[in-house]
Amino acid sequence: MASVFTHVLVGVAQGAAGKSAWKKQRRFWLLAVLCSILPDFDGIGLKLGVPYGALWGHRGMTHSLLFAVIAGIAAAACFPLPWKEKEKWTLALLFFIITASHGVLDALTNGGLGVAFFSPFDTHRYFFPWTPIQVSPMSAPKFFTARGLRVMWSELLWVWCPTVVVTALVYYWRVRKRNSNSE
Ligand SMILES: [Zn+2]
Repeated sequence: MASVFTHVLVGVAQGAAGKSAWKKQRRFWLLAVLCSILPDFDGIGLKLGVPYGALWGHRGMTHSLLFAVIAGIAAAACFPLPWKEKEKWTLALLFFIITASHGVLDALTNGGLGVAFFSPFDTHRYFFPWTPIQVSPMSAPKFFTARGLRVMWSELLWVWCPTVVVTALVYYWRVRKRNSNSE
């Protein structure tokens, strides 16, 4: 896994792309954060003895694109908007992207098994050819060690900096667009 902080940051940054009416509601942000970390709930199974490489093992089914589709629809269902409105599906799409991006981040890490993006149809575990992110320890105490620092540094460099830059550019572009529309 990438660290929980990084998954949340990326989820929130993607949430910022949502409509302003959604962003005014606290529930939207709660759902965005939940989607960003939901795949790692498979850590509970790992503690209960589910083997890492099993269908429901860590980075297995809950990190798949199918799971992200289901999570996206379920999260949108928890948001007060009627399904007959097209906007509800746009929201489901955003929550899908946030959930799926979790697996993408994990597939950029350099440890553990890869991510079962196409489970249950293809249970192969995939990594991207480029894995610049140091894999994060699963347990909190190990996080506050030299290894934890190396993890944070790699995430800062390869995820936080690009995310902040892209978010700032999008905001700048939006403000410019709004100003030019009101001129
Ligand atoms: Zn994960």
